Amino acid sequence: MIEDEKIKYLDEKGIPALKAEEAKTEKTGKWRVFKPIINEEKCIKCKLCWLYCPENVITIDKNGHPKINYEICKGCGVCADNCPVKAINMKRDFHEEEK
Ligand code: SF4
Ligand code: SF4
Repeated sequence: MIEDEKIKYLDEKGIPALKAEEAKTEKTGKWRVFKPIINEEKCIKCKLCWLYCPENVITIDKNGHPKINYEICKGCGVCADNCPVKAINMKRDFHEEEK
């Protein structure tokens, strides 16, 4: 199963990773400082952000675009660091949507 292979791959690289069902139980509070924003026009659909997200909160939609679940994204920036075309920008998160 592809999810298990992803976790095994990250384990071998020494990157801590949660299984999707574990990640869903750890919702991000108002403490997230930075929020990853994906520029779909720059994205080349390589899925590296999906692969490397240690919280397992990125899914790929039917068009091949990555989607971030902000309820559980921790704002670590691993996705942005690993994007080969710099399509992910880390922006200061003021939690406007929660006010
Ligand atoms: S900031 Fe971290 S937790 Fe959020 S989507 Fe990127 S890699 Fe995953
Ligand atoms: S790593 Fe960057 S280019 Fe690759 S799928 Fe994610 S956002 Fe798109």
